[in-house]
Amino acid sequence: MLDYKIGTVVLMKKQHPCGNSEFTITRIGADVKIKCNQCGRSIMMPRIEFNKKLKKILA
Ligand SMILES: [Zn+2]
Repeated sequence: MLDYKIGTVVLMKKQHPCGNSEFTITRIGADVKIKCNQCGRSIMMPRIEFNKKLKKILA
């Protein structure tokens, strides 16, 4: 079971177009919303997809 909550910083397998791959979780439901820690843009994706794309939980 992946242990993350709102505010958790995660490393994703695929980096954002801005070149960063560290994101902060801002919403968790059927979809997970993450915010890029470099450019501040948000991405939303189904939780299943998020779990697949997640590389590492950082903090
Ligand atoms: Zn970005």
